[in-house]
Parts: sequence; structure tokens; C-alpha cells
Amino acid sequence: MPLPTPFYLIDETALDRNLALVDRLRAASGAKCLLALKCFATWSTFEQIAPHLDGTTSSSLNEVKLGREKFGGETHAYSVAWSDGEIDEAIANADKIIFNSISQFERYGAKAAHIPVGLRVNPGVSHSHFDLADPARPYSRLGEWDIERIEAVIDRVSGFMLHCNCENDSLEAFAALLDQFEAKLGHLLERLDWVSLGGGIHFTKPGYPIAALAARLRAFAERFGVQVYLEPGDTLVTDTTTLEVSVLDVVDNGKAIAIVDSAVEAHMLDLLIYRQSAAVAPDAGTHSYVIAGKSCLAGDVFGEFSFPEPLTIGSRISLLNAAGYTMVKKNWFNGVAMPAIAIRRRNGAVDLVREFGYADYVASLS
Ligand SMILES: *Cc1c(COP(=O)(O)O)cnc(C)c1O
Repeated sequence: MPLPTPFYLIDETALDRNLALVDRLRAASGAKCLLALKCFATWSTFEQIAPHLDGTTSSSLNEVKLGREKFGGETHAYSVAWSDGEIDEAIANADKIIFNSISQFERYGAKAAHIPVGLRVNPGVSHSHFDLADPARPYSRLGEWDIERIEAVIDRVSGFMLHCNCENDSLEAFAALLDQFEAKLGHLLERLDWVSLGGGIHFTKPGYPIAALAARLRAFAERFGVQVYLEPGDTLVTDTTTLEVSVLDVVDNGKAIAIVDSAVEAHMLDLLIYRQSAAVAPDAGTHSYVIAGKSCLAGDVFGEFSFPEPLTIGSRISLLNAAGYTMVKKNWFNGVAMPAIAIRRRNGAVDLVREFGYADYVASLS
């Protein structure tokens, strides 16, 4: 019996492939790699992922606690702004804490005197295809920009976090950014013990020159005498997970439209935010359909795809790339049934690891 849809299906073998690339990068570069939980926090996979990484990084207290409890290794605590009510618990669960501003550092740094303390620095350069996700956009609040102000506190911090990339699949572009960091911040970097270069480097993309990336990272680490960290999110889970849906109805309003048991806004929200289309494979054949969700949103459309056979009620469709920034953002909009979570094991068996029902919907509000 196939599992009832909708469900997210994580493929262990595909994850193995990405994790093997992480192993190569870590071994060749000396860099440590931390999973960025804001991208992917499906903790039933952590047993598989954790042996290949050094720990986790976070963007909130909840993520700090999840990293500590479910992943292990080094737990880096970062947040754009900690509150008085969170800071003690964050520090208690962290191996390092990174402040986003000097004012947060001055407010809370003394509480963290027993662990390494870092500062997010914004070098003012970045690589991002979207203004929405560009840390160096005008007036960005992500990190300290002012070199003189940073210099004034540098003796009290042991590292910097420089997260400036988003979906960067070009080593040349990344290396050019690193050149700029070196030129602008070199005199500060040599006074540190560690530097986190953040996430956004798409080194699992087929053909990415991992050996050359590793050499560039090693040269950076040696030049400044620092331990380099990377904080991959998306690249770790890319092409590992699908959203499995079924066709509920087929209508024709000028185009053939297949309505499925899912909704873009509820289950693949980033497609709406970044105005992108979902993907199916192989997306070939003579039968073309708009694949649309079952929510009331007029623009609840996954995309327009080609299929080898006509779609009928009950046809199953796999929507690709449903892990990064997808499972962490699922929500109860329209009360649409929440996709279950399943894992395809290396031997092909599919295990259902989590189901959601009416009680979860009720519990999400009061
Ligand atoms: C989002 C984020 C990451 C992860 O970025 P990916 O693009 O998913 O690799 C890492 N570090 C920080 C500080 C982030 O904000």
C-alpha cells in the first residue's frame, strides 16, 4: 500500500550523496561545517546527518535548543536580536554565542564570558539573486558595518560571522568576495581565533570544484591563523526531498488544470515569496497541465509541467526540492491537511516518521 498523500519524502541515499561531499570539503579544507537549522530542522534525519557535520547554528532560542537536544556537536547560538527572557537559556545551551550588533554584545556579552563570543560583521558586499535575501542590501541590520566601532571591541570577541552568500554556485564569485573580506577586514581577522563564513555556498551542485574551494578556504585560514566555519543549509539538502501529492480534480479553463491535495502557500511557501515555479522530473511528454493547489488563493499554482500520460483523478506527482526552506515553513493556511513526513531508506523501504492531524491544527491556535 503506498502511503496516502500529501507527504514530504526524504531520500536517505540522496542525502548520503550530499553528505559525502561535505566529508570531502571538511577533510580537504580543515573548515568545520554546521547545519543551519533555519533552513532544515527535520530532526528525524539528524542521526544520518550529524556524523558528517560538526554541529549546528541557529537563528533563535528554539533552534539553539533543538540543535543541542537533537543534533549534538558544537551548538552555535546566533540571533538577530536576543531578548532579556531568552539570553540565559541561549547561553546555557550554546558552545559559542554570536551577537548581531555591538549593542547586543555590550548588553549580554558579560553573561557569556565562559564561552567564545563572536560578532556578526557586515562587510558590505554579498552574492544574492534576491534583494529580499541580500544581507548587504541598503540599510541592512544584519551585522556591524563600521570598522572603527568593531575595532573598539575586537579584543573582547574571539571570532566574526560573515554571512554574505545566498545560493552562490560560483567559486569565482565566492573567491572574489573572500578577496574583498581580506582587503577590508584583514587587519581585524588576524586578531581572531575563528571566522564563520556563513552559508549560501552551493558546493553540492554537480560539477562544483570542491577541491579548489577547499584550497581557498585553507589559504584563508592559514593567512589569518583562524578556524574557519561554514554554515551550510540549502546545499546540504538540495535534491534530497520531494513533496508527494495526488490529483483531486482536473478542470479545463483555457488550460488543463490539475488540482492537487496540497497548497503552495501552506507547503512550499518560498515559491510564492520568491515568485518561482516548482519542479517535476522529467517534465517531458505531450500532456501539459497547470498543477494547482486546493487552497482558496487564486494564485495557488505550483507551475505548468509536461507529462507522458494524461493526468486523472488519483494520479501522483512528485514536486522536487521540498527540503530546504520548505518543511520549516509549512503552515496551516486554509486548514489544508498537513503533509506527513516519510523517509525512503537505503534499501528502498519507505518509513512514515510523522503524521499530522486535526489535533495538531487545533493545537496551533487557541
Ligand atoms: C540562512 C543562513 C545560513 C544558511 O544559508 P543557506 O543559504 O541555506 O546555506 C547560514 N548562516 C546564516 C547566518 C544564515 O542566516
